[in-house]
Amino acid sequence: MQAEPVLLTGLIETCRATIAANSEHLCALDRAIGDGDHGTNMRRGCDAVSAEEASVATLPLADALEKIGLTLVMNIGGAAGPLYGTLLMEMGRELRALNQNQDFPAVLRQAIDAVARRGRSHAGDKTLLDVLYPVQDALAHRSSLTDIARQAEVAAERTSAMRAMRGRASYLGDRSIGHVDPGASSCALLTTAICRYLEE
Ligand code: ADP
Ligand code: MG
Ligand code: MG
Repeated sequence: MQAEPVLLTGLIETCRATIAANSEHLCALDRAIGDGDHGTNMRRGCDAVSAEEASVATLPLADALEKIGLTLVMNIGGAAGPLYGTLLMEMGRELRALNQNQDFPAVLRQAIDAVARRGRSHAGDKTLLDVLYPVQDALAHRSSLTDIARQAEVAAERTSAMRAMRGRASYLGDRSIGHVDPGASSCALLTTAICRYLEE
C-alpha cells in the first residue's frame, strides 16, 4: 500500500501544529507530576517528522510509519519517545504483515500492545495507554470520527483520578491523583487533531 502523499503530509502538519499550540499546556501538566518537559519533547519530535515529511510521504505506507516512528524515538527522547516511536514502528510492521483476517483496528491493537510491553505498563496505570486503548476500542466498534475524538478527550480526563504506576509520576504515589497525565493528554490532542482533519 502506497502512502497517500497529500494525506500523510496533511496529517503530519496537523499533528505538528497541534503539539506546537499545546506545548506549554503539556509542559504545565508534566510540571505537576513529572519534570515539565513533555510539551518540549513532543514538539521536538513533531518538528523532526515535519522536516522529513516530503521524503517520508513518497514511501509505501508501512515504510513511512516505520520511518516516522524511528524519528520520534530519536527526537522526542524521555519516556515518551520510545513509546510513541514503538506505536508508529509497530503499526508499520503490522501493516506490512497484514493478512485477510486483519483490519486497521487490529493493526492498531497490536501496536498498542507493543507499547504496553515496551513500557511494562497496563491500562489503568495513568499513561498514554489509557487513551490509546479506548481510541482503539471506539475504532473497532466503528464509532464516528467525532465520537472517537470525544472518547479520547474523556479518556484523558479520566487519568486524573488514577494513581500513576509507571514513569516519573509514579514516584509521587497518591500525590499523582488529581492531575491529568501529560502523555494521555498529548495522545488525546493528537487523536482529536487527526479525527478533525479526516472529517474535513
Ligand atoms: P519523561 O518522563 O522522561 O520526562 P515525557 O515527559 O516526555 O518523558 O513523557 C511522560 C509520559 O510518558 C507520561 O505522562 C506517560 O504518559 C508516559 N509514560 C512514562 N512512562 C511510561 C511507561 N512505563 N509506560 C507507558 N507510558 C509511560
Ligand atoms: Mg517529562
Ligand atoms: Mg524528561
